[in-house]
Amino acid sequence: MAKETLNPFEIAREQIDRAGKKLNLDADMLEILKHPRRELTVNFPVKMDDGRVRVFTGYRVQYNDAIGPFKGGIRYHWNVSIDEVRALACWMTWKCAVMGIPYGGAKGGVICNPKEMSRTELERMTRRYATEISIIIGPEKDIPAPDVYTDSQTMAWIMDTISMHKGFAVPGVVTGKPLVIGGSKGRDEATSRGLMYAVREAAKKVKLTLKGATLAVQGFGNVGYNFARLMSEEHGSKVVSVSDSKGGIMSEKGFDPKEVFAFKEKTGTVVGFPGTKKVTNEEILELDVDVLAPCALEGVLTAANAPRVKAKIVGEGANGPTTPEADDILHKRGVLLIPDILGNGGGVTVSYFEWVQNLSEFFWTKAEVDQKLESVMVTAFNSVWEMHETRKVDMRQAAYMVAINRVVDAYRWRGIFP
Ligand code: NAD
Repeated sequence: MAKETLNPFEIAREQIDRAGKKLNLDADMLEILKHPRRELTVNFPVKMDDGRVRVFTGYRVQYNDAIGPFKGGIRYHWNVSIDEVRALACWMTWKCAVMGIPYGGAKGGVICNPKEMSRTELERMTRRYATEISIIIGPEKDIPAPDVYTDSQTMAWIMDTISMHKGFAVPGVVTGKPLVIGGSKGRDEATSRGLMYAVREAAKKVKLTLKGATLAVQGFGNVGYNFARLMSEEHGSKVVSVSDSKGGIMSEKGFDPKEVFAFKEKTGTVVGFPGTKKVTNEEILELDVDVLAPCALEGVLTAANAPRVKAKIVGEGANGPTTPEADDILHKRGVLLIPDILGNGGGVTVSYFEWVQNLSEFFWTKAEVDQKLESVMVTAFNSVWEMHETRKVDMRQAAYMVAINRVVDAYRWRGIFP
């Protein structure tokens, strides 16, 4: 048997092949879907605080715009590679399509270590990178957003840089902005709120009562923390384990995610929270819980640990946490997995709402945002569930089949493919 690959773009392509086979897709169409439309590599100088100049490498991959303008986050990380950006851009394409929002997919990244850079160095790097990619981004072309180690401040700098070039404010060029310059209410918790709605729908299918149901969350960052908090606040679920890059904690009695968050703010980690015992980031995935939410990194559920996953529902907050081999194992074992392109699609959905509010210059209340998000999530969940039931495929393949069908349909209507 071939060795299980962890190259994210190889995984992304394998996922397309798998869904394509089920859909009986023409080989030529598969080739289109397996290639990014446009890739920009930029090497740009940045003045560092010590007076030296460093050259950084960044990317913007515009994967597919059959349905609408390109859309996708920007990641700052030392492990950024062209294949990672391609994979993330590819997943954005399917994510927007499965959520039924009128965007294509893109992603950007800069190879850097933001933890070792000062705020002024980060600002200079962001402005230079934004200028480099300004030739291909814009509200009607490609709309970036935050991803790992970028945030609303990064988006504000990009918005300002592009606005300086234009000579007027262009809020619609990025999403995930601070509220005062055109951000949307509810964007900060949108990914987690969307995942909560998806888990709620999944729980109905497996007849799991969420009140009192046990929950483990790997990755206690923006997505993981808010998901744990919302599940506890809105459904009365029992959060029994969470983790971050330094390790995890576990308590059978459960704990209040808000208190753990406050503890992490003070100490820098969840580890050591009173009344809990330590678990590793490997052990957390195998705990005997009702719902498991991987909300940190790629490739954590593999053929090696999937046989020991005990959760009834796996809700993917992170992008790409499960390998195709692990998907097969979990499906055979009857675990209901909510795939990333559906599970964390709430983030891009409210990004879309932000862009709509920017273009129309009319802003919505938090209640309006949440209610519209719920409607998009439930509709998307139901279309994937129907595909899963009628075609007898796992939820990931079902989500890909729904998404790919829509992109192929767009190509046909546009006359790009017969
Ligand atoms: P974040 O930086 O706020 O949080 C990441 C968390 O993961 C941190 O708590 C960090 O300590 C933890 N972590 C890092 N390495 C770890 C490891 N080896 N094991 C366990 N935990 C580890 O990031 P985020 O915005 O919450 O994003 C998390 C994931 O969700 C990423 O895969 C991202 O692409 C995806 N995602 C985020 C959004 C969004 O709106 N923020 C939307 C869609 C998808």
